[in-house]
Amino acid sequence: MERAEQLLAEIKETITLPLHILAVCSGYKVTIQKNHLEERLPQQVHIHYGPGCPACLASPAFIDKLLEYGKRSNVIIATYNDLLGIPGTISTLEKARTSGADIRTVSAIWDVLLLAKKNRRKRIVFPALGFESAASSTAAAILQAKIAGIFNFQVLCDHKRMPACMETVLQNKEIPVQGLITSGRVAASMGSDYFLSFSEKYGIPQVISGYRPENLLEAILALARQITHQTKKTENLFLEAVSAKGNIKSHQLLEEVFEKEDTFCNGFGIVKNGGFRIKDEYRMFDAEKVFFDVKTMEPAMAEGCLCGEIMRGIKTPPDCSHFGKDCNPIQALGACMHSEEGPCRVEFLFGRNF
Ligand code: SF4
Repeated sequence: MERAEQLLAEIKETITLPLHILAVCSGYKVTIQKNHLEERLPQQVHIHYGPGCPACLASPAFIDKLLEYGKRSNVIIATYNDLLGIPGTISTLEKARTSGADIRTVSAIWDVLLLAKKNRRKRIVFPALGFESAASSTAAAILQAKIAGIFNFQVLCDHKRMPACMETVLQNKEIPVQGLITSGRVAASMGSDYFLSFSEKYGIPQVISGYRPENLLEAILALARQITHQTKKTENLFLEAVSAKGNIKSHQLLEEVFEKEDTFCNGFGIVKNGGFRIKDEYRMFDAEKVFFDVKTMEPAMAEGCLCGEIMRGIKTPPDCSHFGKDCNPIQALGACMHSEEGPCRVEFLFGRNF
């Protein structure tokens, strides 16, 4: 931790005025809170979190649709474990499984293709959440399914586009963002150039960071230095994983399978070009096209859940009256508490306010 101590000392020397930072990726909150970095930083540093948790941005309608699909005897829902307890309007996948729905957990999307190959008489539905890096894996699986003729593989797609979500936060101006720590995970697949316009368009410094404590301290120091010198550029400090153009194959996969669409993001409403839709030529893999007759009720969040406001960075988990009481990692009322990197869960497990 010698390097961390040195960086903390340099941050203290550099910062003279309040500095409001938006840390976009949910993984950054995990690192900062797990290592109690906020307690060590000067009081002038204010870190706002969001909107980097894709499960937290999803509408309860996403889970409601899966629950409806799961009622059909010819459907298997194949999902990652961390989606099981996320609440829909009235239930969860976990409860549906207890009631007899065929819901299986997988550790990679390729397991879903194998399951579909072995169960040709069933439709295998994969709930697809996540930003660009997860979306490119989904695209690769859809292409593979097409090549292998696995047409009983269906995707319920709610992939989000990170720049559109960031843009909404900056345009709303609900928090006084002076610097961005932009997602190293998304930049690893899309490249640092993918985010270049933010510094130019909004006139704010931006740093692409890794996920170790010293990476984030370096990012905060870089932003503080840019503010001091009045520069407004994009700095890539995650050179071991992020190149300027990113992974060209990821770009090609996204372009081949998806197109941009306006999408609902919890807390923000409809975000222009905020999501990815499966192109019409791959509609046989699109669960919403295959199960076009499935109707769901009007979705609703748990009363008093502030997940949306937390995603916008205008509230923090302890502001919620449910936090740590009737909402906790065992019994979550909202995705922000259930999701592995959800801000409420992270705050509950590692925060200083609880
Ligand atoms: S503590 Fe629970 S109810 Fe409150 S905002 Fe977080 S997830 Fe929603």
